[in-house]
Amino acid sequence: MPEASSDPNRPPAAFGIVPGELKSLLKFLDARICAEGCDGTVISTERWAEANDVGWSQLLVGLTGSGISCDCEILARGARPFDAA
Ligand SMILES: [Zn+2]
Repeated sequence: MPEASSDPNRPPAAFGIVPGELKSLLKFLDARICAEGCDGTVISTERWAEANDVGWSQLLVGLTGSGISCDCEILARGARPFDAA
């Protein structure tokens, strides 16, 4: 079982997903939350994970570990780390 940090093909991740995935997720959440608002769950993130073939259980663990409990928190917290990527 390789550690995530020892896999050269896997860049540093936030919430257990790689920067490219995070960018895609943030874009998706931005559109969803602008249109519908945040309902206090991570349902939009789950939908994104399903649509993008991203492991939801792994992502959920990453979110929970970061203290994230709803979609807009992901937007608030996730928008920063990869601005320069
Ligand atoms: Zn929220």
